[in-house]
Amino acid sequence: MNETLDITISKADQSRLTVTDFSTLPFGKVFSDHMFIAEYDNGEWSNLQVLPYGPIPMSPAISALHYGQAIFEGLKAYRQENGNISVFRADKNFERFNKSATRMSMPSIPKDIFMQGIAALIEIDEKWVPAQDGYSLYIRPVMFATDPYLGVKPSDKYTFALLTTPTGQYYSKALKVKIETEYTRADDGGVGYAKTAGNYARSLYPFQEALKQGFDQLIWTDAATHEFIEEAGTANLIFVINGKLVTPSVRSTVLDGVTRDTIITLAKNAGIEVEERRVSVKEVIAGIENGTLTDAFAAGTAATVTPIGQIGYEGKTYELPDPASRTISAGIAKTLNDIRYGLIPDEFGWTWTVK
Ligand SMILES: *Cc1c(COP(=O)(O)O)cnc(C)c1O
Repeated sequence: MNETLDITISKADQSRLTVTDFSTLPFGKVFSDHMFIAEYDNGEWSNLQVLPYGPIPMSPAISALHYGQAIFEGLKAYRQENGNISVFRADKNFERFNKSATRMSMPSIPKDIFMQGIAALIEIDEKWVPAQDGYSLYIRPVMFATDPYLGVKPSDKYTFALLTTPTGQYYSKALKVKIETEYTRADDGGVGYAKTAGNYARSLYPFQEALKQGFDQLIWTDAATHEFIEEAGTANLIFVINGKLVTPSVRSTVLDGVTRDTIITLAKNAGIEVEERRVSVKEVIAGIENGTLTDAFAAGTAATVTPIGQIGYEGKTYELPDPASRTISAGIAKTLNDIRYGLIPDEFGWTWTVK
């Protein structure tokens, strides 16, 4: 970081900490006392502020609402064993945020604003970083277009915000997932690799249909043939086949997940072979049937490492090995958590100690 930015701080009159139940935290519903805001106009970012979390005034004509110029990120701060607070791989999220911004014709956010905004928010809401095992403070950067103008063009004005929400486990059990072969999440030349609002909007209806059919989550396949596995929509997918970690390669339709990258690095470091390539539905189903596929899990910041217990495909349900038997993913997940919580040294430079 080059210089210390001028951030205006307005403190909340009263903290909501005392009325917040940390033992039952639904994901993304309870926000900490403060938020960070920056505004873009005339080609530059200004008006940097930390202020009480709450509604922000806006015109109903803002282009984000009409044409979807909106992007976001998700990263986490962890309370370390020694009481420090560290944020995991913030650089990667920062880079991806600006990649999404470029694809959506939005301005880049300077690294200083992204990082110092996070630091300022954690400084003021330090007590909101939970100390319980498996908990963290989820950080949600978001940027949206604020021109009150109904013409279809890139907005001239934007708001960048950082929200934080204390969180426990996203999923509490092994997932039953459906391989989706009718609807699609992303297509070549599209915006699948960007964390942009429309990707999630278009997935809601198919997801609701899957829920009605008794599934917890979807596995998206490629739009052209539905023969290849892409990802889960808020998490990447990793399989263990013949003792190797196998994961769909990152392409324009698959989000380049930080957790995915972290797990690949940890696996290679532990001497486990990793294959990043196209993964066919056929191969996965055959692997379950002949027993060579021993593990499948979703990997993401919100979901962390969540085992897949059952896979539905063309009306049939395939049962995967008992999650308790999955030593490879459990081992990697443990190393990952130990680094995040400062229980073992971080030899990769992934942790940024904010406080
Ligand atoms: C956020 C997200 C992921 C997971 O990425 P992480 O960086 O590991 O959190 C995977 N797929 C999609 C579509 C996502 O939005």
